[in-house]
Amino acid sequence: MSIKTLSIAALTIGSLLSCKQKPVDAQAAHAKAITIDTHVDTPMRFLREPFDIGQKHEAPSSRVDLPRMKEGGLDAIFFAIFTSQRERTEANYSQAYQMANAMIDSTEKALAANQSLATLAYKAEDASQIEQEGKRAIYLGMENGFPLNKDINRVEEFYKRGIRYITLAHTKNNDICDSSTDDLGAEHDGLSEFGVDVVKEMNRLGMLIDVSHISDKAFYDVMEQSKAPVFASHSSVRAICNHPRNMNDDMIKTLAKNGGVIQICILGAYIEEEDTTSLNYVKKEELRIKYNDFNFKSDEQRKQAWAEWREINNKYPAELPTISQAVDHIDYVVNLVGIDYVGIGSDFDGGGGLKDCKDVADFPKITEELVKRGYSETDITKVWGGNFLRVFKQVEEASEAS
Ligand SMILES: [Zn+2]
Repeated sequence: MSIKTLSIAALTIGSLLSCKQKPVDAQAAHAKAITIDTHVDTPMRFLREPFDIGQKHEAPSSRVDLPRMKEGGLDAIFFAIFTSQRERTEANYSQAYQMANAMIDSTEKALAANQSLATLAYKAEDASQIEQEGKRAIYLGMENGFPLNKDINRVEEFYKRGIRYITLAHTKNNDICDSSTDDLGAEHDGLSEFGVDVVKEMNRLGMLIDVSHISDKAFYDVMEQSKAPVFASHSSVRAICNHPRNMNDDMIKTLAKNGGVIQICILGAYIEEEDTTSLNYVKKEELRIKYNDFNFKSDEQRKQAWAEWREINNKYPAELPTISQAVDHIDYVVNLVGIDYVGIGSDFDGGGGLKDCKDVADFPKITEELVKRGYSETDITKVWGGNFLRVFKQVEEASEAS
């Protein structure tokens, strides 16, 4: 080898070395990103018991509060105003409507008592604004459109109360669309006529349409009707965990093609197929049958059932999946459609939680796993909120244009 060849070789190695990215510092990347969890069920606690969100609590009984959000470097969160789907009687419609409003009232009250720690947020740009003030941004979403009754005006009414997304249905069909898990099967063959109006009204107002929980056909109907990109606030990958609540490859591709985002849900049964022989599963199935598929006759009965549910979890704890398994879902979406269409919606305080990610304070561990798998700082920023905020902004812009 001549001296000239040698020096060229040395030059090539030198430039290769300088091109090689320096290793990502997980802690720094996590701190730098605007981190958002798009689905937790914490507001239910406000109605169930006195719960001070400004104080630190312990998992597993509580997985979200403001001190632990700070500890876990979580800048923003969506609190779900959740009502379970019950028989569609006037009394139940009215109760769901009152409950949704009571949950919004109590969230406002909880935040008013903790003004130095957190602020209610309404627009996509609020997240970074509030982060710069050193506070947590709390957004509101509505899980299940049951409180709308069949009144289209209520979409705007709830928008004015701060609701920025609606998960169109929950575990059962409602007036808007079919659910992915209703034992009775399809009722509307996807989106109902009222559902089409709801989608249009949400587009007009600049609300995010959440396709988590809804049936596959309802999903495709929404994709056809919506003028703006849509998102799944807490759904995982069906190819890895075959649950009707998860999204199949074609749905993920369709969502991505429309510029939307799937926020991976870290609830055990959506990450890994359940062991149906485990005592935890068997006892919970018995409970579901005992309480008529959790169609409660009274609040008393509801309280009793949830007490028994907690007892089962204490006595026969479920073997939870790990962060590594959850990140397999993120990897899968990235390999299928690219880095721009995936995020995280934990479902904490609504069943979410992993063996090694028990609450929001554990979120930096997810970033560590992403770094271990070669995700860059930019990738991490996208997964932890960048992708979702892009969709949120587009939904706002589509509203302004209409
Ligand atoms: Zn849910």
